[in-house]
Amino acid sequence: MDCFSGKVWHHLPSKEVLEVFQVDPDKGLDTLQLKWRTDEFGPNSLTARRGKTKLERFLLQFHQPLVYILIAAGIITAALGEVVDSGVIVGVVLVNAIVGYIQEAKAAGALEALANSMITEAVVIRSGSTRRVAASELVPGDIVVLRSGDKVPADLRLVAIKDLRVDESALTGESVPVGKSTDLLPQDAVLGDRRNMAYASTLITYGQATGVVVGTGDCTEIGRISTMVSEADELATPLTRKITSFSHILLWAILGLAALTFAAGVLRGEKAADMFMAAVALAVGAIPEGLPAAVTVILAMGVSRMASRGAIIRKLPAVETLGGASVICSDKTGTLTENQMTVTAIFAGRASHEVSGTGYRPEGSIEGFNDTDQALRTTLLAGLLCNDTRIEYLEGGEKVIGDPTEAALIVAAGKGGLDLDAESKGLPRLDTLPFESEHQYMGTLHNQGADTPRLAFFKGSVEAMLDRAAMELLPDGSLAPLDQAAIRAEVERLGLDGMRVLAMGCKELPKDASSLDHGDVASDLIFLGLTAMIDPPRPEAIKAVQAFHRAGVNVKMITGDHAVTAAAIGVQLGLGIQTCPGQPTCQVMSGSEMALMSDEELIAKAADTSVFARVAPDQKLRLVMALQNRGEVVAMTGDGVNDAPALKQADIGVAMGRGGTEAAKEASDMILTDDNFATIEAAVEEGRGVYDNLLKFIVWTLPTNVGEGLVILAAILMGVALPILPVQILWINMTTAGCLGLMLAFEPKEPGIMDRDPRDPRMPILDSELYIRIMLVGGLLLIAAFGLYEWELRTTGVQEQARTVAVNVFVMVEAFYLFNSRSFTRSPFALGLWTNPWVVAGFGIMVVLQLAFTYVPFMNVLFGSAPIGLLPWLKIIGVSILAFIIIEVEKWLRNRPAKAVRA
Ligand code: ADP
Ligand code: MG
Repeated sequence: MDCFSGKVWHHLPSKEVLEVFQVDPDKGLDTLQLKWRTDEFGPNSLTARRGKTKLERFLLQFHQPLVYILIAAGIITAALGEVVDSGVIVGVVLVNAIVGYIQEAKAAGALEALANSMITEAVVIRSGSTRRVAASELVPGDIVVLRSGDKVPADLRLVAIKDLRVDESALTGESVPVGKSTDLLPQDAVLGDRRNMAYASTLITYGQATGVVVGTGDCTEIGRISTMVSEADELATPLTRKITSFSHILLWAILGLAALTFAAGVLRGEKAADMFMAAVALAVGAIPEGLPAAVTVILAMGVSRMASRGAIIRKLPAVETLGGASVICSDKTGTLTENQMTVTAIFAGRASHEVSGTGYRPEGSIEGFNDTDQALRTTLLAGLLCNDTRIEYLEGGEKVIGDPTEAALIVAAGKGGLDLDAESKGLPRLDTLPFESEHQYMGTLHNQGADTPRLAFFKGSVEAMLDRAAMELLPDGSLAPLDQAAIRAEVERLGLDGMRVLAMGCKELPKDASSLDHGDVASDLIFLGLTAMIDPPRPEAIKAVQAFHRAGVNVKMITGDHAVTAAAIGVQLGLGIQTCPGQPTCQVMSGSEMALMSDEELIAKAADTSVFARVAPDQKLRLVMALQNRGEVVAMTGDGVNDAPALKQADIGVAMGRGGTEAAKEASDMILTDDNFATIEAAVEEGRGVYDNLLKFIVWTLPTNVGEGLVILAAILMGVALPILPVQILWINMTTAGCLGLMLAFEPKEPGIMDRDPRDPRMPILDSELYIRIMLVGGLLLIAAFGLYEWELRTTGVQEQARTVAVNVFVMVEAFYLFNSRSFTRSPFALGLWTNPWVVAGFGIMVVLQLAFTYVPFMNVLFGSAPIGLLPWLKIIGVSILAFIIIEVEKWLRNRPAKAVRA
């Protein structure tokens, strides 16, 4: 494809650009053009650049210190003439690499699938109507409408703009948003100076624009320079990093120890070959080589479990952090509430009117409605025309394209007999001041006809309107001085019921005015009326708040809404605020109060306040930092472009999948596909479960290493033959981790997982109690394996048989210990055997493998094992059961006092 390389788009007038693509900016492409161009240009997506090749990723599996040791051991054993041993070592290294490769590929695949499932959408004009399509469906010539928070979906020549500012850091590295214009530019303007263009993957931080697509997919500027790789993020989290660095320290310590034993043994006159094997056994046994990979797999499984509950993890560390979240700061509208707005009351012309009907169905009426009531009619008209939302009435119900608040206004106007198409014909719109959270109002400019003043409509928060108004409209069409007290009293009354109140205003502007800006709204507005809409709390959010409180997690509601409304909804949600008589906004902190506070004051007050009202987006950032200053692990939700800094700062930034802007999604760690607060609770619960299972795996696996290391050390110190050979240690570590340990990843969440306090992230992974457990089980393994090895050696005198017994002791004790490890507090009998059938299956597979290890001649040759009789088996099972009982008793002793205290 030549990507229209002959065209210098920024140097062409927009009219000519539109001609090139044969498109009318008001109508967009028609179906035929669309089909033809889709065939011609293909999808608007970047061809994925190859990341590491499969071979490279496979070879990287060998790039581990332990594997180096094993390869060296393999070569040296071969040189010593131990061909079988060296063959087994090489085989194990290979199998290990293959398993590691598959595990990693699976984990990466799961993450990548999630990344791909988040499609970017774009608003386009096609065949004369506005619609949302997947960004990948765009073709050259499409007319795209952009507004703040959007990610530019393709390279565009801007045709019309309104206060447009774009963050182009993804493309140019320049982090300050640049202003745009539609003016013609010189041919040689460089990328960063092409103000009349908007480039794919940059972010709109402010304003609105319309543009025509001039480049898609690989023909975009980002496509030309892209280093986009098909790989998902790095598979590392704080925990895996801690474990990796821990194993590195361990590695060097053990290597040092191994070298020392080797040297000491040789000096003592032992055979160098024997001592070398002992040193290798020590290194192989004591290093928990499988741990980082297993942790990644468990985390990846958590990711897909969260996804199935509506929480998409963008960054793997969030899985882990979620389990430790101690404060959740959530938006009100749409997350804690339904965002199914219905206007239930209108206050206009100093009179209050109830409105009947629910939802977006056009059924219902306005009490006391009267066509001649100018104040009421104009209030409805302002709500209808100062509005960018459309409602489509489909077979199955209504579909809102835009903002539910605005949809409610359209429906209310309909109940007063006002129709959008008819009214907008009479008053065509000339310009728009889009709604931005920081200004809290929106305005539109309308043409009333030649030689008549222009009319501007406004709607926004009551404060924003009343501050700027001096007069109000009365039912007979006359103006009177504004009765602020009466209006504020009405706002208070409506807010007490948790209603969201919007004020409408208008203003006449000079007859030649063609654009609207914030200066025009600064004063002399005419107040028209108030609309009050209900937005009830979601029932599942109320339950989720209760669950969080039981789980020791604080919930804070953040809203741009009025303090009285916020407080009322806060009470309904059970956020733990009491209403103080006559003082409806106590315990609510408003944005203006926060602005006056010093950081220290905010830090002191933030913890006890659960409702924050009229909060400006940048104050969310202050709040997150104040809470973090107190050591809290903060999850913060957001949807707007201005929320991005707070989402980045939060420990877990949560973006809305439906209502959220691309800018917010990009800054987030997690996305809620259903925008629902209850999903955060589900994710926290899963996060706790994942962390539990990780810990269970670690506490299950480390004793094997401790036990093996101790057995080898003991043998060396006593100057006796090794009870387990290096290849046998490799066998134990490889088989048990996969068949037994990983089954803990399927362990269901423990009952009561949301009844305990969040984990303190500053605490080390393992506390002293878990260390005791690890040392206890490691010690039991040492005694049991060494004891039964000696016993067998003395009875039979056959070294191979004795070693086989020792290996079986390790495996069987670990297999029984797996059942202990299913819970830190509960006994496996209380859990029930079949609540995790995987553990049972793994146990079964392990038994079969051990029988093969013991009785299959081929295995005997490979691993130096030998068939053993029934009696040794009974002893092995006996010590395994004994160990199981000892560990259960230890668990019970440990948990008993805690229970007594709680009771
Ligand atoms: P939140 O979503 O947290 O409730 P917003 O920042 O969206 O808060 O809104 C803050 C205030 O701005 C609302 O209480 C309302 O008064 C006003 N507002 C909200 N949406 C619109 C809109 N589309 N047009 C005009 N004003 C709006
Ligand atoms: Mg909002």
